Amino acid sequence: MTTSASALFEVERLRDVLDGSIVLPEDADYDAARTIVSGAFDDRPAVVVRAASVDDVVRTVRLSRDTGLELAVRSGGHSNAGHGSVEGGVVLDLRLLKELRIDAAARTATAQAGLTAAEYTLATSEHSLATGFGDTGSVGLGGLVTGGGVGLLSRKHGLTIDSLLAAQVVTADGEVLEVDDTHHAALFWAIRGGGGNFGVVTRFTLRLHPVGEFVGGILVQPATPAAVSRFLEQAAAAPRELTTILNVMPCPPLPMVPADVHGRLVMLAFVAWAGPVEEGTRVIDGLRAIAPPLADLVRPGPYISMFPPEVEDYHPVAAARTLFLDHVDEPLAARILERLEASDASMRAVQLRVLGGAISDAPADATAYAHRAAPMMANVAAFVDRPEQRDAREAWVDELSAQLDQGVPGAYVNFLAREGADRVRAAYPDPTWERLRQVKAAYDPTNLFHVNQNVPAASA
Ligand SMILES: Cc1cc2nc3c(=O)[nH]c(=O)nc-3n(C[C@H](O)[C@H](O)[C@H](O)COP(=O)(O)OP(=O)(O)OC[C@H]3O[C@@H](n4cnc5c(N)ncnc54)[C@H](O)[C@@H]3O)c2cc1C
Repeated sequence: MTTSASALFEVERLRDVLDGSIVLPEDADYDAARTIVSGAFDDRPAVVVRAASVDDVVRTVRLSRDTGLELAVRSGGHSNAGHGSVEGGVVLDLRLLKELRIDAAARTATAQAGLTAAEYTLATSEHSLATGFGDTGSVGLGGLVTGGGVGLLSRKHGLTIDSLLAAQVVTADGEVLEVDDTHHAALFWAIRGGGGNFGVVTRFTLRLHPVGEFVGGILVQPATPAAVSRFLEQAAAAPRELTTILNVMPCPPLPMVPADVHGRLVMLAFVAWAGPVEEGTRVIDGLRAIAPPLADLVRPGPYISMFPPEVEDYHPVAAARTLFLDHVDEPLAARILERLEASDASMRAVQLRVLGGAISDAPADATAYAHRAAPMMANVAAFVDRPEQRDAREAWVDELSAQLDQGVPGAYVNFLAREGADRVRAAYPDPTWERLRQVKAAYDPTNLFHVNQNVPAASA
């Protein structure tokens, strides 16, 4: 795509006033600057703006508005839908915005949107405090928080948005707003689950929770229908201190698992207990008793240990579907195992997150994430190693998710791939959707922020 001369002129003018910098296609670091986590997308933006201040964010929003160049807002770049970049447009990269202020006495933190979950948690762990994010340390706060945030402290402390006290938002007009329950309350409601539709969140004020006593790690066990359904049943019945993420999948070549287990179907669970160690050990022993562990790294330790170092420059391509479930009984677990056996994808998995606990404490209309009553979240995924595999992998995830579907409505917007407007619409209940559209009409009527799981503005 070519960029008009006048747009290029505006981009050059931006370079002169920015606190940060711009990267253009002719620059040596252009490929690095345009790369996002998902390997499925190869967009070539006209410019990547590395914002170093809130003023830079305002300038970039105005550049997009004035030139008509499409705007992609990027924090951690983890969008499975490739929304951290845009062909021929402007990428507003927030990764230099990493200011973090911790008030340990008040148990709050103010964090700029370019921080990752691991960076934030490493700093707060100095005070034995944490805010729950997701299961992966490199995910950016910007996308994770605005979508909801479902992670390893969720049953104990709720979604990330349940710990969100206030935010700073740059709107489509380039206005900088401080929002909370009493200031721009509708906007504050919308950015808690409505994604990046309403503005660029530059700063989050988050509640911190004590995590001094914590037990967690990875537990690997053989997968059988009885073991899978029992694990989920016990995890749901456990006190809310326990949050688990169960991956049913062929065992990856983990060094701590005997080589003859690699490739066999296992339950690979992230287990997190946020509470007294003695009680946690007793509850987790109940999970261990379901099937003899093949690897057991679950132990008392700091919560930050749940975010180990990650492989850098990893850009997998995956077909994936997400849905909510009511329960997984033995026949359904048998179906999952059968379908996993039947696939030849180099990685395929069904991830099952037991929800409930503090997630369900808030009413459905408290935030734009409305699925408070959903008991479980599933993600079905298969790697696409070569383009010619895509159709078969998509068909496999479609078929298995249809078999899992128990009619529990909705979907978690942060796990949607690029699946079309109908799936975005289906992610929200009607009242939530209508309210989001009203907020969109008030704050972004021209849909400047549309490189996302898009909510169209209500018509006047
Ligand atoms: C490996 C992996 C593991 C994951 N695990 C979890 C998990 O455990 N729990 C969970 O809840 N989610 C999880 N996710 C999903 C993740 O929360 C979403 O993909 C999220 O949108 C990523 O945020 P980001 O800032 O890294 O991504 P980006 O690609 O930078 O942005 C994603 C979207 O958010 C918007 N956005 C980004 N920053 C801002 C901002 N500052 N203001 C407004 N809008 C913004 C973007 O426009 C884009 O639409 C996971 C994703 C991956 C790839």
